[in-house]
Amino acid sequence: MTASTVTQSDVDVLVVGAGFSGLYLLHRFQKAGFSARCFERGDGVGGTWYWNRYPGARCDVESMQYSYGFDEDLQQEWDWPEKFSAQADILSYANHVADTFDLRKYITFETEVCAAQYDERAQIWRIETATGETVTAKHFVMAGGCISTAQVPQFEGLSDFKGETYHTGNWPRQPVSFAGKRVAVIGTGSSAIQAIPEIANEAQHLTVFQRQANFSIPARNQPMTPEYADTWKSDYAEKRQEMRYMPNGVLREVNNKSALEVSEAERQATFEARWEAGTGAFLGAFNDILTNKASNDTMAEFVRGKIRQIVKDPATAEILCPTTHPIGTKRICIDNGYYQAFNRDNVDLVDISETPIGRMTETGFPVGDRMFAFDAIVFATGFDAMTGTLFNVDIRGRDGRALKQKWEAGPRTYLGLMSESFPNLFMITGPGSPSVKGNMINSIEQHVDLVVDTIIHMRAEGLQSIEPELEAENEWVDHVQVVAHKTLFPQANSWYMGANIPGKPRLFMPYIAGVGAYRQTCEEIVAAGYKGFQFKTSNPSQTP
Ligand code: NAP
Repeated sequence: MTASTVTQSDVDVLVVGAGFSGLYLLHRFQKAGFSARCFERGDGVGGTWYWNRYPGARCDVESMQYSYGFDEDLQQEWDWPEKFSAQADILSYANHVADTFDLRKYITFETEVCAAQYDERAQIWRIETATGETVTAKHFVMAGGCISTAQVPQFEGLSDFKGETYHTGNWPRQPVSFAGKRVAVIGTGSSAIQAIPEIANEAQHLTVFQRQANFSIPARNQPMTPEYADTWKSDYAEKRQEMRYMPNGVLREVNNKSALEVSEAERQATFEARWEAGTGAFLGAFNDILTNKASNDTMAEFVRGKIRQIVKDPATAEILCPTTHPIGTKRICIDNGYYQAFNRDNVDLVDISETPIGRMTETGFPVGDRMFAFDAIVFATGFDAMTGTLFNVDIRGRDGRALKQKWEAGPRTYLGLMSESFPNLFMITGPGSPSVKGNMINSIEQHVDLVVDTIIHMRAEGLQSIEPELEAENEWVDHVQVVAHKTLFPQANSWYMGANIPGKPRLFMPYIAGVGAYRQTCEEIVAAGYKGFQFKTSNPSQTP
């Protein structure tokens, strides 16, 4: 990046977040000759994998696929130790990428962006940090992640509790020891399901508080063998290309049969084989699990059967059997011994579906007339997903219009990439794009390439600003909902639906038509001259 490309703004591009989106953005902007800066609230790179250091944190997409595909040398030289990578290994990889491509010099760490205002006259963004710095940029890219604003519910009396408290998504940098301690885990989502077996191994006693039970599939993690890694590395480029057009951005076997068109014996054998293989491929056992409730019920019942087999105490097993949502309509969890942990003498499960946690005290909290005392409470209570991180910045577009106000009834984007009234503001994997419904790194690369190629196009054509047309945006917002309502997803009280945050609008936020289909749509839109976008060539006040 050279100073000569800087126009009237301090930099061409300001990026928020140095996770996998931010790192790849900086690399692409660097190569394309744009000046860029990045603000990151943590003191290191890695985003999700920097913050989520809770015990057991691990990716549920295979390492060979959950990694960048943009650089052949990078994908050949990096060796993953396990089939499913632990948080520490993914964080090492992010650091390796930052060093290999010399990206740290663009990043200001421990700096939170608090406000950003578009100056329509100057056609620049004015971005302010909590540390008092103001930077102007022609383009502003929010790359802060979809699941990055940790959510601790407003438990009454929370500040009275004198023991240790942790949130899985904001875990301390220093190691935490639960040895000899009485620990509570509140929540049974993906984070809790990974953390519980690990905490149970260490704590004197663990009590798990469950509001809704979740479906979890065994990860069947194993050490990476050179032979398996070679099956990828021998033709990585071709495999990556194939992944890019898969429904979830992941290469896996898809069964094109309905669960209802096969015999009971074939159905059970198929479920059994997928259960043995483990991972999210389980949901792909049949092609209508997420669209046909009767098909879905067959799979849900299979998993409930497994829970009843694994968990020895029948009453505990029944509480762990999910009944509140179709399987897969909340993110399927992947575990390493989750259900087995409830067979330990030092682990108890408390059902809080009907009687919630009562007022917290110095030592713990009651549930109904039972009082619990703890040395530590782990909040595995999730995130203000998809919009929380965008709303943490007071973003104001044309005429001072606030993004938060425009999105009061739910996010409004074109392609999950931009929002009308906010020129030159790009979101990486924003609401209305497949984002969390696919392999995140794969989707990140697609969005980053789209954003950077668009800005290169604008430079070549002398275009100053880009913004979606209102009509195109409205159509896209409707389309996202139409597609979602063809599936069972809206039937769950999930964070996809904003249901975990009191007062958040209820609507399905990601785009569910598939990663490959979405990519094709984006390609068609660009080929049609950026259909649905409008460009401006000069300052509007100078336009006759
Ligand atoms: P989550 O799925 O939103 O789970 C939060 C849990 O906290 C739920 O069990 C929820 O209960 C409970 N909870 C929330 N508020 C509560 C309250 N007031 N009282 C009692 N319980 C409460 O959050 P997460 O587990 O952190 O996972 C979020 C997402 O991050 C996942 O869906 C996944 O996409 C991603 N993730 C991925 C991995 C991986 O790759 N392996 C690992 C961790 C996370 P209800 O269900 O009743 O609302």
